[in-house]
Amino acid sequence: MRAVVLGIDGAPALADVDEPALRHPGDAVVAVRKAAICGSDLHVLAGKIPGMAPGGVLGHEFTGVVAAVGEAVTSVAVGDRVVGSFLIPCGECAACAAARYNHCDDLRVLGYGALFGDLAGAQAERVVVPNADLTLLRIPDDLGDEQVLFAGDVLSTAYYAVRLGGVGAGDVVAVQGCGPIGMLALQLARGLGAGRVVAVDVAAERLDAARALGADTIDASGVAPGVAIEELTGAGADVVLDTAGGAPAVLAQTFDLVRPGGTIAVVGVYSDLETTIPLADLWLRGVTLRFGGTCPVPALWHDVVAMVRDGTVDPVAIVSHRLPLDDAVAGYELFASRAALKVVLDVS
Ligand SMILES: [Zn+2]
Ligand SMILES: [Zn+2]
Repeated sequence: MRAVVLGIDGAPALADVDEPALRHPGDAVVAVRKAAICGSDLHVLAGKIPGMAPGGVLGHEFTGVVAAVGEAVTSVAVGDRVVGSFLIPCGECAACAAARYNHCDDLRVLGYGALFGDLAGAQAERVVVPNADLTLLRIPDDLGDEQVLFAGDVLSTAYYAVRLGGVGAGDVVAVQGCGPIGMLALQLARGLGAGRVVAVDVAAERLDAARALGADTIDASGVAPGVAIEELTGAGADVVLDTAGGAPAVLAQTFDLVRPGGTIAVVGVYSDLETTIPLADLWLRGVTLRFGGTCPVPALWHDVVAMVRDGTVDPVAIVSHRLPLDDAVAGYELFASRAALKVVLDVS
């Protein structure tokens, strides 16, 4: 079958790979319909998530139709249309019992290589999904695949950020980073009653897109964000959602955006081992700094799908490019260059 794999040179490549098969009673095989390219796929290609061998199948955001199930699977059946979770928790440890799936003792991720369970990814015609009762969600008949595709990763992660930040009615919410998670987070914050949403980025076209979704914007390439948000709001943000991550300077920017007594919620990925923080300043201002880690998708995706249905969020709005699986390499180039906000591959 066709699949997108990690090439020898660290670039994505289209390849012919072996058909996947059921290995455990809790597994399901899904015939993939839609697969999205995610920022963390780029991390895998860049070697930032060590353990992925050349030839390994990429991808962890997908919808499809169940093609086979192991004997222990009860929540989905052959023929069901489903969305998959990028996160594959064990379902049995104490953290899983408490629905803290992101803290699972045996956490696995599709398409992330040996360190994360050595599972083949979903940018392929078919994918094996372990613990299907926990990691596949049946798509309601009245919703299309693209509407729920992101419930398995970026949409649930955006909701996780909003919850982590405790966004409440009337709040001024600054969303740092207008990538896919940021664009969804600003929609959710608005939909859940925030008084004002301010998007912060350095890319003009992404700020334009954020404005079209109802946000005020700060172009951090031209102004000091801390000064700009004071001018816009008179104080700072009640809640800062950092969906960008990356370099320590990005985190430092959140300290300038938040008001005294406010909350910073971080779901953007940081991989530097250490940084300095303005300890006395944050203490004096009583700022709450919360790190989210990865998103416990199966704990949140029911809520997320309900919010798609009632119009709180329109995830399809972030899809900038739709390409056939055979054009996946071009899709990766568009996404890596930031010419694309979100690429969806039509697999079948
Ligand atoms: Zn992802
Ligand atoms: Zn577990």
